[in-house]
Amino acid sequence: MTGTLGAVIVDLNPLGWAQLARVQKQDDVFEKVLQHVLLYINAFLGLRYDNHLLVIAACPNQSHLLYPAEPQAAAEAASKPKPVNVYEEFHTANEQVASQLRAVFRQQQAQFRAAGGGDDDDAAATAARRAATSPTATAAEDAAHVAAHLGVAKTSATAATSAMASALSKALAYTNKVKVARPDMEIATRSLIISLTPDNPAEYVPLMNCIFAAQKMGHMLEVCKLHRGDTAFLEQAAHITGSNFIQVDDVSRLAQTLLQVFLPDQETRRWLVLPTKEDVDFRAACFCHKRIVSVGFVCSICLSIFCAPQKECIMCGTEYDISSLPASLES
Ligand SMILES: [Zn+2]
Ligand SMILES: [Zn+2]
Repeated sequence: MTGTLGAVIVDLNPLGWAQLARVQKQDDVFEKVLQHVLLYINAFLGLRYDNHLLVIAACPNQSHLLYPAEPQAAAEAASKPKPVNVYEEFHTANEQVASQLRAVFRQQQAQFRAAGGGDDDDAAATAARRAATSPTATAAEDAAHVAAHLGVAKTSATAATSAMASALSKALAYTNKVKVARPDMEIATRSLIISLTPDNPAEYVPLMNCIFAAQKMGHMLEVCKLHRGDTAFLEQAAHITGSNFIQVDDVSRLAQTLLQVFLPDQETRRWLVLPTKEDVDFRAACFCHKRIVSVGFVCSICLSIFCAPQKECIMCGTEYDISSLPASLES
């Protein structure tokens, strides 16, 4: 048995949280989810003395490493008086993680409003009314509703998704740095992604690179999904790294899922019967239009994926004779 360096990647996309507030009919859903995540973090730190925590926020276009804090911020926090009857690491982690997550979340909301104006609460309430009148609305339509009422003319792929590849790269780079710096220390590593937004097909290649890097490192990529959008890439991440992918429909049960499914270490999981996702979505995104495709054409030289047969691979320049292909395949 070894300690674990566990990263928690929280998706802080304001659009994703506005949709979750609407679906769950709770305006303060962020605070509720935060309490469940803090409970998981305390349990994780309390499970073993040599468990270490990493918290990363995934936002539209960027990601932030929130915990451990920068040395200066950590020294400031250490100099503040602490309650004597609380385990110091719980107190520090709770204070820093909660305050940093709240700060970045508010900053993201402010940026989102500045980009389009509007008010979240009114937006969520109006979107809820509209969704109630159209029960067949898809997740994309929901996103468009919420975005429209958040004051943004239309949801761009970037605004509606988060920089998950960037967040995962940070988690993998940090854990690799710890492993390289302490080759004598045996430590397992893993990342738990709290997903609030669908996949961004433009991130297909960097995300798959992260997934294969994690697989090589033996780093589990676990996914706890709180929304209804498509997450083919994250499903593949959990499947390829031998980890769990769980959709939580009712956030009041989030703590239960986090503690039962995602808390046990790799060794303990061998003896547990945990829920698994049977139907993994193995679709890929084409390199030409960044669209998720069910049938793709693969360059036999560089393995790039295209949605239609190409005369010349746009990635490696290999030329192909596609005249022999049935006309129905050429678009
Ligand atoms: Zn394409
Ligand atoms: Zn090629």
